[in-house]
Amino acid sequence: MSDEDKTICPYCGQKMSRWEGGATQSWGSEYQYICFNDECGYYQRGWDHTFRRIGIKASYRHRYDPTTGQCGPFPVSSEIAGKDGIIAE
Ligand SMILES: [Zn+2]
Repeated sequence: MSDEDKTICPYCGQKMSRWEGGATQSWGSEYQYICFNDECGYYQRGWDHTFRRIGIKASYRHRYDPTTGQCGPFPVSSEIAGKDGIIAE
């Protein structure tokens, strides 16, 4: 699998958005790829899953870090959370 393929969300098949958290980010990497598709199954299931597990209204989106090559959840507390960090490629 090439790096380019990893910018496609494996849960919904959509191209992920390049995302920068700015000075407040704690990710360490310059930028991430995050799936901001509100129809994404991973994100949609996350609401229910998080609420049942820890009792708070939150979810997560699929995230890919091109610097480390690792994928993981990007926690969000609302539908718009993080969207201001999306940057055009
Ligand atoms: Zn997705």
